[in-house]
Amino acid sequence: MIFSNPSGAPELACDQCGCRWFDRMTNTCYECGAPVTPENLAEIEAALAAFAASKAANDATNPGPGATPPQP
Ligand SMILES: [Zn+2]
Repeated sequence: MIFSNPSGAPELACDQCGCRWFDRMTNTCYECGAPVTPENLAEIEAALAAFAASKAANDATNPGPGATPPQP
């Protein structure tokens, strides 16, 4: 399953127990040992891409305080 953290970024969570801790070496859940499936990886990749795209669009329309002002 895909979980959104408080800042809105998607994170992969375990399908079985819902936790978000994975062993990156073996691609299994720390809590229950459920394997991360290729479907899970495709899902999080798509969610991250969508998040990055919406963030980029938002940054373009709302430049933050650090944005460089347009030069004359
Ligand atoms: Zn789990």
